[in-house]
Amino acid sequence: MKRRPFIKQIFQVTSGAYLVSQIPLLYSFKPTIQNKKLGVALVGLGGYSRGQLGPALLETEHCYLAGIVTGTKEKEAIWSEKYNIKKENIYNYDNFDSIVNNDEIDIVYIVLPNGMHAEYTIRAAKAGKHVICEKPMATSFEDCKKMISACKEAGKMFSIGYRLHFDPFHDQMMRLGQNRVYGDINITTSFAFKMRNLDQWRVKKELAGGGPLMDLGVYNIQGAIYTFGELPTSVKAKNTTINKADWKEVEGSIEWEMTFPSGKAYCKCSYEEPYYCHLTANTEKGELKLSPAFIYNGLKGFTPYGPMTVKPINQQAAQMDAFALNILQNTNTLVPGEMGLRDYMIIDKIYQSANNNSEVISLKGLPNILDIRPI
Ligand code: NAD
Repeated sequence: MKRRPFIKQIFQVTSGAYLVSQIPLLYSFKPTIQNKKLGVALVGLGGYSRGQLGPALLETEHCYLAGIVTGTKEKEAIWSEKYNIKKENIYNYDNFDSIVNNDEIDIVYIVLPNGMHAEYTIRAAKAGKHVICEKPMATSFEDCKKMISACKEAGKMFSIGYRLHFDPFHDQMMRLGQNRVYGDINITTSFAFKMRNLDQWRVKKELAGGGPLMDLGVYNIQGAIYTFGELPTSVKAKNTTINKADWKEVEGSIEWEMTFPSGKAYCKCSYEEPYYCHLTANTEKGELKLSPAFIYNGLKGFTPYGPMTVKPINQQAAQMDAFALNILQNTNTLVPGEMGLRDYMIIDKIYQSANNNSEVISLKGLPNILDIRPI
């Protein structure tokens, strides 16, 4: 008998909160449908698709790279050769909607600049495809809502590219933090690197929606929420941009504080500072920590009593396989659109506070969605 990984489900509890449960399946149980590998089409073949998602799709068990959508002619030959992609499964941004007629594509994965996520998610849903959309979900509250509605109306599954919910180090952080194994916690978390190319979409408000908060801060927000296992109740933020002349459309650096029912999270992210990247729960027994925390590999974890003994995995392969299994087994994704909306709403309030002299802003009305794991 084969020991299988956790099957994850979201269910509604009486309080109305959507909690994620994990039921360890100790016995092999494989409906034949699982033998089908779902076809994924990547939309946008930039750095993340090239460096991570494409290679991960060579490792996935339940899905494979069946198609691409690109605006760059030269990439067609490179990708079709490397991944053995059929000519008829190659699309550009104009003929993308005709993907509706392609039965080999089950999942469309949007890997475009943030400001384009909504349009392509909605077009993919209208074409009858399940959708994964990269983080941050979108650049406005209205767009997040429209994306969720479009997928619901089409009867298709929708998830956000939150790969760390599938990473075993973050799984440990969730279990040990949420269950207060080392006592009460407060969190400090930061993520920064020095952005050298200031002529790219990430520093343009229309395409990025914001600066490092949208791109990196979303990991700090997520990390704090899933380590506490609670929703934050208020935020207070400060724009800490160092070189204001360089950062005309978006912030260069930002710091914020989130209040949770049982503690605080102190967060910062930056495109101006040397690299740092950690998620730390300061517990009654000492530090429970991931450092580095948010990158693709080389993560390290520490409990107050020593290093975590965790076997690293390919995060993206695990994330895409989990979504494929959700579709094949008709279960809910761990990282639905509503979680992306939740995080967008927090980001929006952080900007609001930073623009209003660090006013404390309530987070009442967040979608009540949490990824809760037993110890
Ligand atoms: P990138 O700049 O490397 O690639 C962007 C792609 O979009 C390119 O192929 C480009 O040709 C295409 N594109 C189409 N229209 C464009 C336009 N108007 N302007 C600019 N590019 C356009 O970016 P990336 O790093 O691949 O990021 C893409 C998305 O993936 C972003 O939403 C980003 O936040 C997300 N991302 C997620 C992770 C993660 O760990 N989950 C990591 C990196 C990026």
